[in-house]
Amino acid sequence: DRSVCAPLPVLGRDVTVPLVTGGEVTYAALDYAASAPALQRVWDDVAAYAPYYGSVHRGAGYLSQLSTDLFENSRVAVAEFLGCRDDDQVVFTRSTTDSLNLLAAALPAGCQVFVFETEHHASLLPWKDARVTYLDAPGTRGEAVRTLERALADREPHGPALVCVTGASNVTGELWPVRELAAAAHAHGARIVLDAAQLAPHHPVSVRDLDVDWVAFSGHKLYAPFGSGVLAGRADWLREAEPYLAGGGASRKVARRADGGVDVEWHTTAARHEAGSPNVIGVYAIASACKALTEAGFDGLVAREQYLIGKVCDGLAEVPEVKVLSLFGDDASPRPAGAAPTRVGVVSFVVRGWNSSHFAAALSAEYGIGVRDGLFCAHPLVRTLLGGDPQEAGECGAPDGGTTSLNAIRVSFGAGTPDEHVDRFVRAVKELVRDGARWNYRTEDGRCVP
Ligand code: PMP
Repeated sequence: DRSVCAPLPVLGRDVTVPLVTGGEVTYAALDYAASAPALQRVWDDVAAYAPYYGSVHRGAGYLSQLSTDLFENSRVAVAEFLGCRDDDQVVFTRSTTDSLNLLAAALPAGCQVFVFETEHHASLLPWKDARVTYLDAPGTRGEAVRTLERALADREPHGPALVCVTGASNVTGELWPVRELAAAAHAHGARIVLDAAQLAPHHPVSVRDLDVDWVAFSGHKLYAPFGSGVLAGRADWLREAEPYLAGGGASRKVARRADGGVDVEWHTTAARHEAGSPNVIGVYAIASACKALTEAGFDGLVAREQYLIGKVCDGLAEVPEVKVLSLFGDDASPRPAGAAPTRVGVVSFVVRGWNSSHFAAALSAEYGIGVRDGLFCAHPLVRTLLGGDPQEAGECGAPDGGTTSLNAIRVSFGAGTPDEHVDRFVRAVKELVRDGARWNYRTEDGRCVP
């Protein structure tokens, strides 16, 4: 029922773009999974604060005090948004990638890491200095839990271990069984970090309810594109680790030693990993987005998003040439009304007879629709889904430069998406498939252009 929640006001809804067919059209941003537009509310809050900008933790003046208060109050707001435990730390970073690299740098000695090969590279790659076990792509959610349980049961006992898992796939949009994976991790004495980059913008994420040890997400996917991210969770590993960045703000006391060296006493709070002047605007924007989403209400946001997913999946299901990508298989087709969500507003697909990059270029050039094509920083997953080797794909995804697709097209949407954008998308897919390529899309500087 679309009346559950209207689209939230976001920036960029009035942007017009030229069409290759002549004329212009309002831009349909359907690439929320890469970066979502700023919520109007976030923009307003940032604009209201900007004239009063001052240094954080570094000044006695009024505006510096104000900025310090906003920064620390934002930490509290994010902790509330994430349902953090009393002794959790909220560390502000640049992004999910930064957050997971921070945690990777804070692993205790000898820590073993378990990660599914299907993860986004930000979750897959930061653990390079640890002993990593890469888990095979599961075919169902139950298999994911069993695969993890088996791997953890086989590990050498007593050592520290960390599981890293995504909440919602940035390729298929599918939800992962986070609560069950967390229970499996804990039953085997391991900890778990949740990559919530794609989950937090769509569903409430509670550290406490999901019983995860850490959660990471990015502001720019949560309608707050001002360069900040979050790592929140257990304080112990973070407190005991070397500071992620060494510098002012992370150090409590620094003194020359008699032998000529320098002694440093580092903070044991989140400040330990936040050296340098922080991005207070980015942090304040994230807190503003957290409050705006909470006030709008996730029940309504989820209901509206499921309605839009239904439109997209119903529409694509009517086109036999289209194959929607799904790892778990149970939700490639439209969901019955009222069914529990199995995916967020992220749908990837390929079109028989079309090179994916050409198709995405056509959506942009002929319809003003912005989607993403490619491998989505999840090469092993896309390889599994497409049954090919994307590394061998050419510039536009096909080894022969022709029509076989070894990359995919991703449409993604969220709280600011109006019906018209997804309706236009479905109509465009149908027309392009029916009519074939009306323009000769070729590759130029890594872009496909008519
Ligand atoms: N994890 C997932 C699931 C993502 O979708 C992304 C971004 N595509 C990231 C991590 C990395 O986020 P960022 O680029 O903001 O660091």
